[in-house]
Amino acid sequence: MPEVALLHCADYQCDTLKQKIRQSLALIGFDEKNFNSARVVVKPNLLMPAKEDRAIITNAEFFRAVVQIVKENKGHPVLVESPAIHSLARVIKKTAYAAVVSEEAIEVAEPGRTRTLSYDAARKFCHIDISEAYFDADIILNLPKFKTHGITYITGAVKLLFGAIPGVEKSKMHFRLPDHEDFAEFLLDLYGAMTCGMNPPVPIVHLMDAICVQEGEGPGPAGKPRWLNAILAGDNGIAVDCVATRLAGLDVNNVSTIVNGFRRDYGVASEAEIMVKGDSIEALQVEDFEPATGSSVRSNMFRWPLNTPTFKNLFLDRPVPSSEKCTLCYQCRKICPSDAISASDGKKAVPRYDYKKCIRCYCCLEICPEAAIEKQPGRFSWILGG
Ligand code: SF4
Ligand code: SF4
Repeated sequence: MPEVALLHCADYQCDTLKQKIRQSLALIGFDEKNFNSARVVVKPNLLMPAKEDRAIITNAEFFRAVVQIVKENKGHPVLVESPAIHSLARVIKKTAYAAVVSEEAIEVAEPGRTRTLSYDAARKFCHIDISEAYFDADIILNLPKFKTHGITYITGAVKLLFGAIPGVEKSKMHFRLPDHEDFAEFLLDLYGAMTCGMNPPVPIVHLMDAICVQEGEGPGPAGKPRWLNAILAGDNGIAVDCVATRLAGLDVNNVSTIVNGFRRDYGVASEAEIMVKGDSIEALQVEDFEPATGSSVRSNMFRWPLNTPTFKNLFLDRPVPSSEKCTLCYQCRKICPSDAISASDGKKAVPRYDYKKCIRCYCCLEICPEAAIEKQPGRFSWILGG
């Protein structure tokens, strides 16, 4: 029976965090002594340079608390992350991680070097190139920030492992898997490969920063910070995501990585099997948590052959940049996996979008630092309930 530790935590004071994280680990039966002499990969969410109060990235003090616990047990923490657009060095430099990495003397792994991870039970791709640093680890500590997400509904423990794929290679996966259900299946392939396919196996513990999270149009600058006041821990990422989703009062049935994850039975086949330890979900659950707009979720109904340019344009939301907010930084163009974005034509101070090429992955919306891109409904999207 998978166990998930759930503890109330309402601030980012390092001492408080350490005490709660230690308590969480104990609740799931993880002995801190396992860190002794271990090379411990610590994987936060460093999507982009962002201030802590935007709740886009895993809080730097949360990361500090974790690496201090590892070091106090004579382990060797290594920061491993590969942001989609910016270099890891830049994201660290432009965030509160700069001070933490320097003060705690943390090794930062080179994110570009990859090795192929093979997993025969995968449903989409049996061979996935991930950052080499994961293969050298004795333990992986996955530190997701709980956020809403336009495609996967929420992002948590399972989705964060997508960051093991380096840089823009991540957005290319959207091009290979334009259907959102297929994309979720691929995320589960990756989850399965990392939890069951490593040889020798590397234990993964998920420690979720669900203290200040994002609601609304997460997971980037368009999302809104919201205090959920919780820390979660568990060795089953699907179970951790399920508890966090319930904590936010969101419908687990909208999260394909959870629903399909149950079907695959990666150590948990239903919500009823999850044992929550510490505080109860009911005691900490919030009301009126704002989900991401359901358009992407609804668009899952559109499968090949309906996922053609004409149908997409009529039925699915299109990403539209606003000239009032756009600074022409072209980060959207860099991340677009289908080459659908080109330079401004000079008439409007926004990039040009080719909606025939656009696969509606919404990576541009996620990455835009100005939250300048909005979803505009297709003419007939009302048919899908939008
Ligand atoms: S839409 Fe956003 S990401 Fe794209 S150029 Fe404008 S500001 Fe940059
Ligand atoms: S234009 Fe935006 S939504 Fe469309 S494919 Fe490119 S990144 Fe994805």
